[in-house]
Amino acid sequence: MCGIFAYIGKKDDAAEIVLSGLKLLEYRGYDSWGVASKIQNLKLNVLDNNKSKIKFQIDKHIGKIGDAKLSAELKRSSNLAIGHTRWATHGGVVEKNAHPHLDCTRTIAVVHNGIVENYIDLKKMLLSKGHQFISETDTEVIPHLIEENLKTKGFASSVRDAFNQLKGMNAIVVAYSLSSEIVAAKNGSPLVVGKTKDEFMVASDTAGIIKYTNQVLFIKDNEMVILGKDVTLLTLPDGKKIKPQFNKITWKVEDATLGKYKHYMLKEIYEQSKVIRNIAQNYTQQIESVGKIIKKSKGTFFIGAGSAAYACLSGTYFFSKIAHLHVNMSSASEFNYLEDFLNSRSLIIALSQSGETIDIVEPLTRAKIKKSKIVAIVNVLGSTLYRMSDYKLLLGAGPEKAVASTKAYIAKLAVLYALSYAMVDEIEKANQDLLEVAKEAERILDAKYAKQIQRIAQQLAKAVHIYTIGRGASYPTALEAAMKIKEVSYVHTEGLAGGELKHGPLALISKGSPCIVFAPDDETYDAIISNATEIKSRGGVIIGVGPLNNDVFDYWLEVKNIGEASIIAQIIPIQLLAYHMAIIKKLDPDKPRNLAKSVTVK
Ligand code: GLU
Repeated sequence: MCGIFAYIGKKDDAAEIVLSGLKLLEYRGYDSWGVASKIQNLKLNVLDNNKSKIKFQIDKHIGKIGDAKLSAELKRSSNLAIGHTRWATHGGVVEKNAHPHLDCTRTIAVVHNGIVENYIDLKKMLLSKGHQFISETDTEVIPHLIEENLKTKGFASSVRDAFNQLKGMNAIVVAYSLSSEIVAAKNGSPLVVGKTKDEFMVASDTAGIIKYTNQVLFIKDNEMVILGKDVTLLTLPDGKKIKPQFNKITWKVEDATLGKYKHYMLKEIYEQSKVIRNIAQNYTQQIESVGKIIKKSKGTFFIGAGSAAYACLSGTYFFSKIAHLHVNMSSASEFNYLEDFLNSRSLIIALSQSGETIDIVEPLTRAKIKKSKIVAIVNVLGSTLYRMSDYKLLLGAGPEKAVASTKAYIAKLAVLYALSYAMVDEIEKANQDLLEVAKEAERILDAKYAKQIQRIAQQLAKAVHIYTIGRGASYPTALEAAMKIKEVSYVHTEGLAGGELKHGPLALISKGSPCIVFAPDDETYDAIISNATEIKSRGGVIIGVGPLNNDVFDYWLEVKNIGEASIIAQIIPIQLLAYHMAIIKKLDPDKPRNLAKSVTVK
């Protein structure tokens, strides 16, 4: 995860530029942040041998970057700075573990995204050579490795050799106070270089860069770039020079403002009817094109992570029921271990909000080597997934800022629903249903209904465990509902297939256990009501979601019957319920603890 931003150029407020760039990248990680700046005209004696060297000035802070300001030191004139927002993998969330990390001489500063898988061995080796470590991170081995290499080589070669020693998927940006260059290298997480006439920026994402330039170079895996007066691109591990291809990006990075809403999560929940209507009205041609690709392929796999994986699972039900077609689904993080049979006729349909999730990008990189075809169903234009796919379908949900996905999730369901109808040349029926879903979303989000949800949220916010159950196409909804509640309210919630209860989880039900039951008016109705009754008989409290009230429900959240499309609408009251539970517990629903929006570590 983590956001990286670096600046080198003619402007003399490099640290400010980096700080404002980081603020736009905070969705990638927000447990701590830091900026290192090479202050001009500041000569400090930091070497034992009394050589005068320029030292980095560093600000490091725990917590969200929010509207943080730089210290007076960092505000001093500088034309080189690097910064980072962290999502800790190794080492606690404490100031000393925040990036940038330095070597013993404090002249090499490194920001890093990823995990150095062999850091323990490297650290042992460096300790035996007398290096002193300050943090508990895996990252800190990198500046010390470079320091070691600098004894015999130049700056860029030292970085290259150090990077070649790292195992795992990593992206780094390195500054050396004795050099007027910065070096970036990657073999995993994204890095993009922006250039103007007299400056360069490096960032994890075009956001932040785009306000200065639309000339960008996407660094590929196993490449390293040296930026100073000019740009030099090299391959890794060997260091062969290649021609850097800057592209003019034609898209705008859309930004979102809160408007009348208190939180992005709430705003995004309310935007859902618009998102679904857009898909119903404008996507026929694109969705039919994907349908044709599926027909030509031999073996279709839906992959996604988190909510996207649940959308994929819903897709398998839609395809079975509507298109009478078998498709496979896998959590993207597991797909690596399931893909040995892929070949040039396989098709992978990858679903992602950010398009940067490493769990998706990594298996797709391997699938591409086998020449499998890739379709991206993605929300972010220009993202890694978008760029690496053979066919791209943008969700058009607009920027989703809250970490917990709502409108991007529902957009994925809408696209998969329409796609399953496109397979049998009936996409118009899907479009009609989706317009009904949009109307139902508006009804559910009406103030009166929202009040009822708030009352239930008051009860559930006190719970320690909650269960959510569904059958058939409502089973993935139960999983997504559980995810939404746990990620923003921190109440442990378990999503289950209704039929699985009696195979174990029923042992957990006791007096007062809340259980959300998805009961659409379809072939699952009778069986799921029986499951609800089994829970109620053991003291459970039932919150029923569906078109029909039932005696077994203690609370009823009505979602009108829209046939197979009902399952798209039935997540909405639970999204709102999760939001209100977070508010009641005084939590920030937009930035839940320990999470990040773009998950770029394994
Ligand atoms: N592994 C590094 C750390 O824990 C980098 C984490 C990140 O990508 O933010 O500091």
